[in-house]
Amino acid sequence: MKSILKSHKLSNVCYDIRGPVLDEARRLEEEGQRIIKLNIGNLAPFGFEAPDEIVQDMIRNLPASSGYSDSKGVFAARKAVMHYTQKQRVANVGLDDIYIGNGASELIVMAMQGLLNEGDEVLVPAPDYPLWTAAISLSGGTPVHYLCDEGSGWLPDIDDMRARITPNTRAIVVINPNNPTGALYPDALLLEIIELARQHDLILYADEIYDKILYDGATHTAMAALSDDVLTITFNGLSKSYRSCGFRAGWMVVSGDKRHARDYIEGLNILATMRLCANVPGQYAIQTALGGYQSIDDLIAPGGRLYKQRDMAHAMLTAIPGVSCVKPKAALYLFPRLDPAVYPIADDQQFIFDMLREEKVLVVQGTGFNWPRTDHFRVVFLPNVDDLALAMERIARFLDGYRKR
Ligand code: PLP
Repeated sequence: MKSILKSHKLSNVCYDIRGPVLDEARRLEEEGQRIIKLNIGNLAPFGFEAPDEIVQDMIRNLPASSGYSDSKGVFAARKAVMHYTQKQRVANVGLDDIYIGNGASELIVMAMQGLLNEGDEVLVPAPDYPLWTAAISLSGGTPVHYLCDEGSGWLPDIDDMRARITPNTRAIVVINPNNPTGALYPDALLLEIIELARQHDLILYADEIYDKILYDGATHTAMAALSDDVLTITFNGLSKSYRSCGFRAGWMVVSGDKRHARDYIEGLNILATMRLCANVPGQYAIQTALGGYQSIDDLIAPGGRLYKQRDMAHAMLTAIPGVSCVKPKAALYLFPRLDPAVYPIADDQQFIFDMLREEKVLVVQGTGFNWPRTDHFRVVFLPNVDDLALAMERIARFLDGYRKR
């Protein structure tokens, strides 16, 4: 029989966070092995439950949630996002500029599909959250990666970004706070990126889903608050700050000068109507979440669970010979570097496969985040301190064996 092939649109699409190594982890689990999973930023399974008031509110609203909602989202959710955005000092945002989606993920894909034609280029960070690169490729565009500089705390290299702009460039993606590096960008750098976008007529896509997961008293500035002319689309949602990945509640906000973007916005509206609406029960959680007690603050404060786990994982990793790691200022991840002189890794997927099989610890290889070299991996510091300490000990033992090979 003729084999059934996937669409050629998928030939450059890859999402290694849920890739082949995860399949191997599942197989080992089916054999009865316990795997310590440091691979996915999914909070609830690690005892970070969604705030009770959100859950109660969803339950209360469930009887009224069985119909489709407006394609852009229920009024209460959009109004809450509008107030949130206005509080961030983003100018000129109304209800019509807000789209609620099944997580930020759906809206990221939608925003790329609505924009790109064959040959269009979008600047994306390296390393990146790989959904961006995948969504650009799926939409027929070409992802062009600008380098973030580990030596300067993983801040985007603005000269590299500038050098990669061509007549085909349509947009710049900025992930701040960053996954996988945990970097948090200063306003001066955001202003430089805005100026580049202004000069070259580019759209800014600001993925700010970790805007409330900040350590050591750091503060986050919404990129959209720093310009009222450059078209900026900001992505956020409940998944991380409200430990609600499973509710699939996210949003995007269009700001800046929209007059010259009417056609694109019409395209976004078409795409929003085509998928009818986002999951309605999840939408009802948004107003309560944004207006209620911000319990994430307790987790990130000194002594809070996320704070302690970040410190411990960072200290244990960097104590391993040949391992360095920029300490994350935000988010849920560490992106350690393995000195290539100590760990000459040819294939980093094979490297993490070996770590999984030998030590039953699951991480994601750096190339899975479109990092161009095989000298990094990403660690999620969500397991409790006991599991995290055990995982770090096992990683240290694995690396010790690797050095002696
Ligand atoms: N953006 C970044 C940077 C992320 O890390 C994630 C999830 O890990 C998402 C977007 C997707 O979030 P959502 O659950 O809202 O689809």
